[in-house]
Amino acid sequence: MKKNTAYDAIVIGSGPNGLSAAIRLALEGLSVKVFEASDTVGGGMRTKELMQPGFKHDICSAIHPLAASSPFLKQLPLADFGLEWITPEFPVAHPMDNGDAVVMHHSLKKTMDELGHDGKKYQSAMEPIIENWDTLTADFLGPLRFPKRPIDLALFGLKAFQPASLFQRRFKQERAKALFAGLAAHSILPLNAVATSAIGLVLGAAGHAVGWPLPKGGSQSIADAMKDYFISLGGEVETGVEVTSMDQLPKATSYLFDLTPRQLIDIAGDRFPEAYVNVLKKYRYGSGVFKIDYILKEPVPWKDPRCNKAGTVHLGGTFDEIAASEKIMDEGGIPDDPYVLVAQQSLFDDTRTPDDRHTLWAYCHVPNGSTVDMTRQIENQIERFAPGFRDIVEERQTINTDQFQEYNANYFGGDINGGRQDIRQLFTRPVHLIHPYATPAEGIYLCSSSTPPGGGVHGMCGYHAADLVLEKEFGLRKSIRNFQG
Ligand SMILES: Cc1cc2nc3c(=O)[nH]c(=O)nc-3n(C[C@H](O)[C@H](O)[C@H](O)COP(=O)(O)OP(=O)(O)OC[C@H]3O[C@@H](n4cnc5c(N)ncnc54)[C@H](O)[C@@H]3O)c2cc1C
Repeated sequence: MKKNTAYDAIVIGSGPNGLSAAIRLALEGLSVKVFEASDTVGGGMRTKELMQPGFKHDICSAIHPLAASSPFLKQLPLADFGLEWITPEFPVAHPMDNGDAVVMHHSLKKTMDELGHDGKKYQSAMEPIIENWDTLTADFLGPLRFPKRPIDLALFGLKAFQPASLFQRRFKQERAKALFAGLAAHSILPLNAVATSAIGLVLGAAGHAVGWPLPKGGSQSIADAMKDYFISLGGEVETGVEVTSMDQLPKATSYLFDLTPRQLIDIAGDRFPEAYVNVLKKYRYGSGVFKIDYILKEPVPWKDPRCNKAGTVHLGGTFDEIAASEKIMDEGGIPDDPYVLVAQQSLFDDTRTPDDRHTLWAYCHVPNGSTVDMTRQIENQIERFAPGFRDIVEERQTINTDQFQEYNANYFGGDINGGRQDIRQLFTRPVHLIHPYATPAEGIYLCSSSTPPGGGVHGMCGYHAADLVLEKEFGLRKSIRNFQG
């Protein structure tokens, strides 16, 4: 297969998309090598002992509805390479000020009961998506193309393109509105932005279709399983190599960058026409995050104990409160009562701590590049729904947007999605081309979350980029490939 080169493909970066691209190419028998700047593989899927021995913290991703739904990842034999999913009893809990939480159950019926008068409305929004989950995920985790189920996708699109602020009006009671706000705010956009409903609907339906699972041992287990599978296919991995120039890399037919546009310009900009570089320079990055990892003496004392059965807890109160705080943040301000995402891995996975103490993972959105310490604001929100929380904190470690970018250069200004995911950049990231994965330079491709379908651990950006490489560089049509996907 090689065209007088050392490798068929070189992948730069070992996040979920870099590893997916590498596996996809290796599955066709190509020679592939991955270079990674850090000492370990994984990108946004790393787990480390940050404070005390035996306490394992997910540095980035924690909860994986998208990995569990990924048309590519779910077909790989990752369980044979040590990946084990744990599914908490409830995907999400959303505590309210009266002490009760709104809980999303795996069962749609039970969630309808939970939402009372709004249950039927919730059902009519979610059921058509859940029923067509496998085909719809192939469409919305894909690049812009003719859909496999056009009518189902069009019906989904009618709801999904609405701003969450409009969509929530179908609900009469605060409980359903608040639950939807917590889901839609994963978009890291103001809730009056077009298509913020899409994120809420997809994450909500995923909760019913596949759950919101977490990997035993931490998100590093996904990375390690992908790396070991890749190596079993003959792939090579070299860590501790920060790529700063094309000259550093062995000769190869194709280069796939699991990096964002500004890094691509730094490394390979001299191979591109000026016009393409100028378009990449206009690529917009999104808001950042401020995160706290905790060691707790005991589980969080939520007012509603059902929160202790949920892998994820969304904090922020009502729809209007969450919409207001996300709007302030998006406009460059610092909200006093931010929307906070909490994950409680150690309640479900006893490999995360050495004894009966616990870990906690919590973050909020902040303006891109903000270095404001949000500890007080995050902990006020946790205390609001779990009085006494501060008393059970044994140790905490914070990470701001600068530190995130230092940790992983892809997180420019703390943006965890590889670019703002608004409607202008959702399908056409980073440029308006039929194949956004290709660049004008021969053999150079982008495969990171700066390409469709964007952020999250699903590996589909890497999968689609690799598919294009197979076609353009190796003339492998879908019908003659080993893996049909
Ligand atoms: C705090 C936080 C929480 C998150 N929570 C979730 C979650 O719960 N669920 C979920 O699905 N997603 C979550 N995400 C998002 C998810 O982690 C990312 O969207 C995803 O990892 C992006 O994958 P990627 O392969 O495109 O890039 P990355 O995962 O960022 O990987 C890029 C890799 O390239 C390497 N690299 C960078 N520059 C160079 C260079 N010059 N040379 C060599 N290597 C280089 C980096 O070290 C990194 O390993 C979270 C992210 C963060 C930060």
